[in-house]
Amino acid sequence: MKNTHITNKFSALSQAKFKAILSLSLILLTSFQLFAQEEFSKEDELSGTVTKDRAWWDVLHYNLKVEVFPETKTIEGTNTITYKVLDEEKVMRIDLQAPMEINKITQNGKKLKFKTKGNFHYIKFKKTAEIDSEQAITISFSGAPKEAENAPWDGGFSWKKDEKGNDFIATANQGIGASVWWPCKDHPSDEPDNGVALSITTPSHLMGVGNGRLISEEDHGETKTWNWSVTQPINNYGVNVNVGDYTHFGATHEGIKGLLDLDYYVLSHNLEKAKEQFSQVPMMLNAFEYWFGPYPFYEDSFKLVEVPYLGMEHQSSVTYGNGYQNGYLGKDLSGSGWGLRFDFIIVHEAGHEWFANSITNSDVADMWIHEGFTAYSECLYLDYNYSKEAASEYVIGTRRTILNDRPLIGTYGMNNRGSGDMYYKGANILHTLRQLVEDDKKWRALLKKLNKDFYHQIVSSQQVEDFMSTETGIDLTQFWDQYLRTTMVPKLEYKQTSFNEMAYRYIDIIEGFDMPVIAIINGKEQWIHPNAEWQNFENKGDIKSLKFKEDFYIEVDKVE
Ligand SMILES: [Zn+2]
Repeated sequence: MKNTHITNKFSALSQAKFKAILSLSLILLTSFQLFAQEEFSKEDELSGTVTKDRAWWDVLHYNLKVEVFPETKTIEGTNTITYKVLDEEKVMRIDLQAPMEINKITQNGKKLKFKTKGNFHYIKFKKTAEIDSEQAITISFSGAPKEAENAPWDGGFSWKKDEKGNDFIATANQGIGASVWWPCKDHPSDEPDNGVALSITTPSHLMGVGNGRLISEEDHGETKTWNWSVTQPINNYGVNVNVGDYTHFGATHEGIKGLLDLDYYVLSHNLEKAKEQFSQVPMMLNAFEYWFGPYPFYEDSFKLVEVPYLGMEHQSSVTYGNGYQNGYLGKDLSGSGWGLRFDFIIVHEAGHEWFANSITNSDVADMWIHEGFTAYSECLYLDYNYSKEAASEYVIGTRRTILNDRPLIGTYGMNNRGSGDMYYKGANILHTLRQLVEDDKKWRALLKKLNKDFYHQIVSSQQVEDFMSTETGIDLTQFWDQYLRTTMVPKLEYKQTSFNEMAYRYIDIIEGFDMPVIAIINGKEQWIHPNAEWQNFENKGDIKSLKFKEDFYIEVDKVE
């Protein structure tokens, strides 16, 4: 850790503590990267690219029915995909990962022929469909889906037991993809415009909880079916099935767009703990609606659902497994103390409702849009509920988790994400940008406009970057290229050249990077405009003390 802000701030004891937490947080932040392939296979290309057999049909709705069999750890179900025809093509690719199998595909009651090649299934239609027409196919599937050994990081189905011995089952499949258990077009660029109907059939003593609202339940004696409905566009990885000995409690929240239903599904024996811990939800909603605008899914309600793993941003059913305690599993990722003032999973995963679920990346290479803004939302939660200083200390504290191992942006078209630094380097970049904007009112207006303009949309990093340049009135081209596309942290070198003069310049920057920063000279803040060349600053009086505002994510080095 070369970051001087951190070494200055932490005692030997907290350094040791920090290392312990760092190793924990690295599991969170970089486990995806440990296995990241920099050489890509045909499989990566096929899963990461909108190929011809994916591009001609636009998903309008999924009607997904699934039954879980805990005894055999298997599932079976059907998915009716309604889509709009965009082009005259005959081959349609459906994703479903082995060992799951497609048993049958039908259209208008007639069986369709398909060929399976690994995780991809190709339907060949006899003739092309009329452009702009709406069509539907129904896929029957079954099997033992990949089991998640370490959810939510490796992904798949978790077949666990709760403390009372009841089955406690959940899916989490970010990264590996929704097609690990259900057949779909598994690419982030196509969300079902009209949502998902999700029916979960469970043994009758258990309950199935999905996304959106519970519409009805059917009692079949030995089993029950729980019918859920999502009316808004939803990313595939957000669709989830949770089964357990659930009990429900709820409330309504007076939000900025009206009354918002809050529904909580927790294990029966955790009801009291949950009622206390989830009282943080209104604090979170107030903070995020203040900074980002309305919660993006009033129609589908806000939910927290207890699961046997840490948590995930499943849209309108955020899953929770943080043990009813503050921090990240009881730890403060920032080391500033502020991380223990809130339940990390409630705040972080719900932050994703704005960034990931409402504003979704078009390619996972741009996933920093999800994680950077959401990690930054933790600091805005503190800003709203505590103070601007708290927010600042927290986000600066999280710099100790940044590795600068790889750029934040991954390789496009390969289902490849960038560095785990997308979380807290992402947050620190945005915090730095707030300094450049200076005016907090303007910064808030900008974040709200971002959420309004890109509401329920699928966007690229470039679109977000351009938005920021336009709205701030600052050409941020070099800023984004430096921070998102390289691993270099700009280093500000400075030296005092006389009693009242200092010289400064940047090193470790791309060509043209010239971000201004604030020097604090004799306690007084002063903008300076460093670039690659040495420049001189002449103070009116002697320079008795000199430092640089820590809110900018740069390194600072005094040279002789
Ligand atoms: Zn996240």
